[in-house]
Amino acid sequence: MSKIIASAAIRGAHSIVNRAGKDYEEALEKWGPDQKVGFPNTAYYLPVIYGMLGIGVEKIGDMKEVIERCRLLLPPLVREKMHLPYLGPVLDAGMATLFADEIIEAIRYLKDPGFYLTGEEVTDNQIWLGAADDVILRKRGVEFVDGTAPGFAVILGSAPDPQKAKDVAEELQKKNLYVFMHADNKGVRFSEQLVEAGVQVGWPTRLVPFGPDPTSVCFAAGFAVRAAMSFGGLKAGEFRKILIYNKDRIFAFAMALGLVTDEWYAQAAGAINFGFPTIADTPIPEILPTGVCTYEHVVSNVPYDQLVSKAIEVRGLKVTISEVPVPVSYGPAFEGERVRKDDLYLECGGGKSKAVEWATTKEMNEVEDGKIELFGPDITDVEAGSRLPLAIVAEFAGRKMQDDFEPILERQIHHFINYAQGMMHIGQRDIAWVRIAKDAVEKGLALKDIGSILHAKFHEDFGAIFDKVQVKLYTEDEKVNEILESARGVYAIRDSRIEGMTDEGTDTFYSCTLCQSFAPSHVCIISPERTGLCGAYNWMDCKASNEINPTGPNQPVDKGECLDQKLGQWKGCNDFLFKASRGALDHYNFYSIVHDPMTTCGCCECIAAILPLCNGIMTVDRDFRDMTPCGMKFTTLAGTIGGGFSAPGFVGHGKYNITQRKWLSGDGGIKRLVWMPKHLKEEIGPRLKKEAEEMGVPGLLDMIADETVGTSEEEILPFLQEKGHPALSMDPLL
Ligand code: SF4
Ligand code: ZN
Repeated sequence: MSKIIASAAIRGAHSIVNRAGKDYEEALEKWGPDQKVGFPNTAYYLPVIYGMLGIGVEKIGDMKEVIERCRLLLPPLVREKMHLPYLGPVLDAGMATLFADEIIEAIRYLKDPGFYLTGEEVTDNQIWLGAADDVILRKRGVEFVDGTAPGFAVILGSAPDPQKAKDVAEELQKKNLYVFMHADNKGVRFSEQLVEAGVQVGWPTRLVPFGPDPTSVCFAAGFAVRAAMSFGGLKAGEFRKILIYNKDRIFAFAMALGLVTDEWYAQAAGAINFGFPTIADTPIPEILPTGVCTYEHVVSNVPYDQLVSKAIEVRGLKVTISEVPVPVSYGPAFEGERVRKDDLYLECGGGKSKAVEWATTKEMNEVEDGKIELFGPDITDVEAGSRLPLAIVAEFAGRKMQDDFEPILERQIHHFINYAQGMMHIGQRDIAWVRIAKDAVEKGLALKDIGSILHAKFHEDFGAIFDKVQVKLYTEDEKVNEILESARGVYAIRDSRIEGMTDEGTDTFYSCTLCQSFAPSHVCIISPERTGLCGAYNWMDCKASNEINPTGPNQPVDKGECLDQKLGQWKGCNDFLFKASRGALDHYNFYSIVHDPMTTCGCCECIAAILPLCNGIMTVDRDFRDMTPCGMKFTTLAGTIGGGFSAPGFVGHGKYNITQRKWLSGDGGIKRLVWMPKHLKEEIGPRLKKEAEEMGVPGLLDMIADETVGTSEEEILPFLQEKGHPALSMDPLL
């Protein structure tokens, strides 16, 4: 162990602990011992202190004991003539540093409540996210457990320039790591460099600006401690187990970029306790012999372009990255990234042009594996800010391929395209929506790359169920319309496969959690008569998907005891929901919009809303862009309730679901339907008529108002009265 490092780390620890002591004294004087302190929305108090010492700091008075423990842990400053200190005292100094960090940061929350943001996203003028609350912990922490994210990089300081910062961040993202950013180097901070280089920071892109000072490292350590407690089932005070859990399970390391100060050394010493080594780009002394960390503890003077690979090697991570042959970075870390209007090069779909995607099966001799064709103009043929219609057709062949697999393969297009940096995908089927960023086009991304992505990823993830796949892309109106026509015919056949099945007739429903990457608490549970709200997954599809991928996002849900027959609530579903939403929800009703409806995510084909004056329900689909009688347009509705919540009065659903017998049956079903857009009425008209006849209201279709009647409750009410709409004589909705 280097004496220089040991001395510096111990000096740094002394200075931070002293500062914590001072902050504590001041706070005590100002607010008194009973003043509440803590990080926002967490059950783990100040988590490093809580996990390691078992002390739950709730009030300023509780900090006293912690400061005393810090002082006990602090080894004496290293004197010139002393023998080489060994690792033990340095580790203790590191631990004391993290405790003191938490005290300093908790007092900062008290003194300056607006200093840190809450939630996952940064704003235009503020980027410091501070301590992750328990919602973020549950959502993101589980990724460390299931391997979606192998771990995280703790960055201190800054890169030589913004471009280099961007390169390092992207390399880490590509390895699916989270990047936690702290402290400055000569006044420059890594996270600010990323913003300057036009990179989106925040939890959704895994680039997390925790705080401007070295003390914010405790937020990273606190995240690791809570992950161990929450997912590893460890208790407060089980410090050895918590540290070992992290060493063995969480692949993390620190990167010290720039001048390493005493305080940084102290933080690095804290990280070594967790088995997290430090990699530096400056020639600081190294701690090469191994002990606590898997390999070396501190490795220094690593050239910039080798930092990430060195870190990976030192921490001993095996990463598997599928090389997708596209000119932009590719991986799940880019899924949450958005392409905003200003960054937009090309847009397809989204209401302004048509876009459709379709997976279909062909004969063996009709498919040439890996063949990708584009019919019509490419990105390079249009100017920035353009729109094109788009049809994506993936044609599969194989001995094991079945029609049943088509919807499952088709639904993957959403994720596969989203994984590409600079590409955003929303929706599905005939309401797909693709955005491509200027940056990506600059790097050489072209439309054919969609084909390369699909070919590579379909083989990687679903190679077992087909042999060959080719992709055709169309960007000419006439051809796109033709594909739309054929695809719609097939969608109808897929939808109707479920006809005749009832919810009562099966004990097993299926979950779908594909959309949790955007709406973390969103859980679709799909029953035969309650198709997924995206319209792309029905019960059959989920069943087939589960057969292909038994550990995937579609799990069988044993519906269990019926708790409410009318509203559609089952114990087994509730239990599943609680687990799958990571505790965010413990129940919802399948058949109600008024009482605790199902959660809604941004993919929904339609959103229903109650219209109190009309004693009824309206619904609007994504293609209708004008005002609706509930006072909101589709986009506003989706923005308000599409984040994975259960929002009484509103619920997302598929188009096909409207004519399923159980659609909102707990509130009166289609007899409540008083308004919907004209084109939707036409689209589902024949089926709605049939359904209405079965319900004993044969003339219902003509009693439903649309935008030609009015777009406010007042405007449509006289029409409903004149037609004698059944909703008007039903029990009050509320
Ligand atoms: Fe699955 Fe529901 Fe998302 Fe459709 S909306 S993909 S069913 S989670
Ligand atoms: Zn969704």
